[in-house]
Amino acid sequence: MSLTLDLRTIFVTGALTCFIIGLMLLMTFVTGRFTRSPVWWSASSLCIGAGLLGAAFRDTLPDLITVEFANTAMLAGGLLLLFGIRAFGGRELNWFVFGIILIATWTLLALFPGEDGFAVRVMVVGTVMALCDAAIVREAVRLAQQEGLRSAWLLAALFAPTVVIYGGRIVLAGLDQVGTKLFPEDSGSSGWLAATGVTFVILRGQALLLLAGERTNRMLASLARHDALTGAMNRSGLEQWLARQKRGHQPRELRASLLLVDIDHFKALNDSRGHAAGDEILRIFTNAVRGQLRSDDILARQGGDEFAIILPGIRVREAVRIADRIRNVFRDALAGVDDLPLPPTLSIGVAEADLRGLGLDELLAEADEALYRAKRLGRDRVQAQLKTAEA
Ligand code: GH3
Ligand code: MG
Repeated sequence: MSLTLDLRTIFVTGALTCFIIGLMLLMTFVTGRFTRSPVWWSASSLCIGAGLLGAAFRDTLPDLITVEFANTAMLAGGLLLLFGIRAFGGRELNWFVFGIILIATWTLLALFPGEDGFAVRVMVVGTVMALCDAAIVREAVRLAQQEGLRSAWLLAALFAPTVVIYGGRIVLAGLDQVGTKLFPEDSGSSGWLAATGVTFVILRGQALLLLAGERTNRMLASLARHDALTGAMNRSGLEQWLARQKRGHQPRELRASLLLVDIDHFKALNDSRGHAAGDEILRIFTNAVRGQLRSDDILARQGGDEFAIILPGIRVREAVRIADRIRNVFRDALAGVDDLPLPPTLSIGVAEADLRGLGLDELLAEADEALYRAKRLGRDRVQAQLKTAEA
């Protein structure tokens, strides 16, 4: 016994599903959970829904609605989704191309009317949809690779199969094997294919929400790990980083040098120039330091005018040289600041330790002793922890 699904019913169900998903995506935007991307995806879903609903009335309403309008709305939906994903990825949008594609397809559809034109219309719509979905797969893979968004892989997996299905339809249409009607007497396997399509529509809506959610989560987590004023890591970020190093696939020993930096007489500068000027100095400091660090070095603000810098794999002698370089670049950076009669200097304590064996407090204590000595000896200098300096 074979179970035949009614194609028209599935078109209507699909349309309603698209409307619900469109409203759901719109709601996530209105409630302010994510950025603007869900608006695009919502518009896309509503367009596809309108297209499916229009097509469901094929042979009962005029072709202008069920062919030209329905197909163009569906293509507009596909393109809007692509544009939404491009906007999500911070890519440029070309509205001129968007308009041209829609006008061109509408014209082509009108040029091949009725049952005679059916196969050509399948090829036209199939080609645009296949290209559109292929472009979405490409954007999703880019998002997955460049931003490390895992749900982007899911999105790619949900759009790749339709590229193949549209490709198959185009070939069949080219061989004149698609019949002359959207809803033939015996729809055969088309009903099952269409039902699968509805499932895909639902899964895609979910994947899009996952994508927006994953990125928002990452952004919030990153904000929580960084200091708002300077963009350096904060203490909690540093603790998480240290925990990750201990867990990671590192060799048994993980030697690193630690610089503890404190700006000299910072309070006096705050008092004489104002708090805003002090803030600016903190930003100048972090920018100057960043220019001296490698990608896996860590800069963290301990609070106030004290910063910790971790240099994995660097021995204490080299670390002292780097600390001196930081003092110099900070001095040079301040040379460009007007209205600074007595530019602040840096005191830096340097220590070397095995990150795996120590907690954050112990690690900082190692360098703190050296920093204290630098302050006592008159500031504006680098001191290394005696234990490691002797070794
Ligand atoms: P020392 O040479 O011994 O380090 O003297 P100091 O004046 O720098 O003393 P200390 O490091 O103890 O003072 C830190 C000052 O930093 C105290 C506080 O007013 C100021 N401060 C802390 N956080 C901020 C901030 O976010 N912005 C600004 N502008 N100042 C801050
Ligand atoms: Mg200070």
